[in-house]
Amino acid sequence: MRCPYCSNSDTQVKDSRPSEDGSAIRRRRHCPDCGGRFTTFERVQLRELQVVKRSGRRVPFDRDKLMRSVQIALRKRPVDADRIERMVSGIVRQLESTGETDISAQTIGNLVMEGLRTLDDVAYVRFASVYRNFREAKDFGEFVGQIAADGD
Ligand SMILES: [Zn+2]
Repeated sequence: MRCPYCSNSDTQVKDSRPSEDGSAIRRRRHCPDCGGRFTTFERVQLRELQVVKRSGRRVPFDRDKLMRSVQIALRKRPVDADRIERMVSGIVRQLESTGETDISAQTIGNLVMEGLRTLDDVAYVRFASVYRNFREAKDFGEFVGQIAADGD
């Protein structure tokens, strides 16, 4: 697993245990190069979901990219990594339980809004303001498609 701080590919696992809800293995990792510490989660992937953008283009759903967009909204907020993890897992479970493999970008955006509202008011307002701006510009679906699927 590559270090997110210095990109060193040789990081060490310090601790490994089930996440709170038991749906994943949580690993604490340490980078011997820069001293950075970070956490990874290993989980079962049930189905391949596709995100349908406004343009109609389909891209594979990427949980890590959804997580990154959530973390941008939660930047510098005092929210425990396990709670964020549970929220994102909840979103993925809801997407998987629709019975559809094609998910609109708006559907994902709405679930992120709902999840953030229960997690952290500031993060919710951040995400909601982006939502409103892009909705007015009629580009929101495209935006969420990017952050959920291929926004690096
Ligand atoms: Zn490092």
